[in-house]
Order: sequence, then structure tokens, then C-alpha cells
Amino acid sequence: MICPRCKTENGNRTVCSKCGYFLYRAANQNVAKRTGVERALDDAKTAGKGVWKIVRIVWIIIVLIVMSFWIIALLMYLTGGNVILG
Ligand SMILES: [Zn+2]
Repeated sequence: MICPRCKTENGNRTVCSKCGYFLYRAANQNVAKRTGVERALDDAKTAGKGVWKIVRIVWIIIVLIVMSFWIIALLMYLTGGNVILG
């Protein structure tokens, strides 16, 4: 275990032999693993949000295409099919 304060190698000691810094917090691997999992979950959440953002944009585009199709169809019906040709 390398001391995070003075970078001295302390082997399996829980207290730094040079500066007296407590190393048991850094030696606890569960803390690092838990933060890693939490970080991965946060990444998955942000990725999921990104996918939903794309789905929402695609959905808006589809709705706009369908709506414009219906508006053109309605105008063609009202004007006898001369909207696109003028
Ligand atoms: Zn130290």
C-alpha cells in the first residue's frame, strides 16, 4: 500500500511508517468497488437518457411527417388535387 500523502510504500500496514497517515480507508477495496458500480450505473442512466432523447426526436419527426401528409391530403381534397402542381 502506497501512502496517498507522502507516496511511501508501507506493505500491509494500516498506518504510514513515514508520516503516520491512516491507510485503512484506502486499503478498503469495497469502497472502491461500490463507487465503481455506482459510476457504471450512472453511466447506464445517462446512456438510457440519451437513447430516450433520440427516440423522442425520432417520434417528433414521424409525427411531423404524418401531420404534414394529412395536411397535404386535406388540402388536395379541398382543392381537387392541385396543391402540389399549383
Ligand atoms: Zn505517508
